[in-house]
Amino acid sequence: MIPFLDMKSAYAELKPQLDAAYAQVMESGWFVLGKEVEAFEAEYAAFCGAKYCVGLGNGLEALELVLRGWNIGPGDEVIVPSNTYIATWLAVTAVGAKVVPVEPTLEGPNIDPERIAAAVTPRTRAIMPVHLYGEPADMDAIMALADKHGLKVVEDVAQAQGAKVRNRRTGALGHAGAHSFFPTKNIGAFGDGGGVTTDDAALADRLRTLRNYGSKVKYVNIERGYNSRLDEMQAAFLRVKLKVLDEWNDRRRRIAARYDDKLAGIPGLGLPRAPQWAEPVWHLYVVRAERRKELMAALDKAGIGSLIHYPIPPHLQEAYADLRQGRGTFPLAETLADTVLSLPMGPHMSEKSVDQVAAVARAALGG
Ligand SMILES: *Cc1c(COP(=O)(O)O)cnc(C)c1O
Repeated sequence: MIPFLDMKSAYAELKPQLDAAYAQVMESGWFVLGKEVEAFEAEYAAFCGAKYCVGLGNGLEALELVLRGWNIGPGDEVIVPSNTYIATWLAVTAVGAKVVPVEPTLEGPNIDPERIAAAVTPRTRAIMPVHLYGEPADMDAIMALADKHGLKVVEDVAQAQGAKVRNRRTGALGHAGAHSFFPTKNIGAFGDGGGVTTDDAALADRLRTLRNYGSKVKYVNIERGYNSRLDEMQAAFLRVKLKVLDEWNDRRRRIAARYDDKLAGIPGLGLPRAPQWAEPVWHLYVVRAERRKELMAALDKAGIGSLIHYPIPPHLQEAYADLRQGRGTFPLAETLADTVLSLPMGPHMSEKSVDQVAAVARAALGG
């Protein structure tokens, strides 16, 4: 049996530090907006190479609050990938703005800067690139476009904590980076969590108000805010996980390299190929399989977990049926949805397991 993601081993490896963090928070008697969150914010900002980090409730609200922080709302357009997890779109529609989906590059999986240029209108306010599967989007090209048109850029870093473009971390490449610390992410809490990194002092200040009912001073509310706060316990756990993030990302890198090697030459199987300038962190190892059904069935029969990220693109979800973007509207996203398959991946996967997965794939597809 090879699980898609081995979650229990994270606790097993870090048990003494995590247990100590738990005890410290419990004994402090302080659970919301305290020393642990402050310390994590400083450490995570430094890790990303950003001036500020604001801890929030989850990744979706991190995206949404950045848009709120920039006063983006009804009448505004935000460019999003057609090929993404639905959270990216939900953040835009939650503030009342219009999603303008843009297709990925032919190599995929990320948004195509040339197609972004064609989608900009006088109403465009922001671009929301996603570093899907841990592979950075083409931020140099995206920032050049944003500068040219006076647009804001918020990176969706949910799947790419620690990834780099030309030696600079994601989350510090745009005007803001929205992070998720959902348990399965590269740096995951033991519950929900999120945050925003930015160099923009005004945005950071606004987010601190928005996350706390629109209040800076207790019981004085200067705007209609949210309750979206990273809590002390999760922040304490995340401080432990941050110390091993680079090392755990290195382990993912080694697994990806071994997959590349062992899966080479299998007919009808496309392997992930990151651009030269990108240093991905392999949140997922996603292949493209012409005969995906057979491959999934063979893996399943061998007790090997695999998942599709994602089987239905946002524009074909019932949640967005009112946009009337039927099948055929975003063919590249649709083709990816029909062919991608994520193989087991994680910092606790063994080389032997990689070899077993590859052997089953080769037996199923030939080559
Ligand atoms: C996980 C994820 C989110 C949302 O994060 P949550 O913390 O679950 O709200 C947003 N975007 C992408 C690409 C994600 O993978």
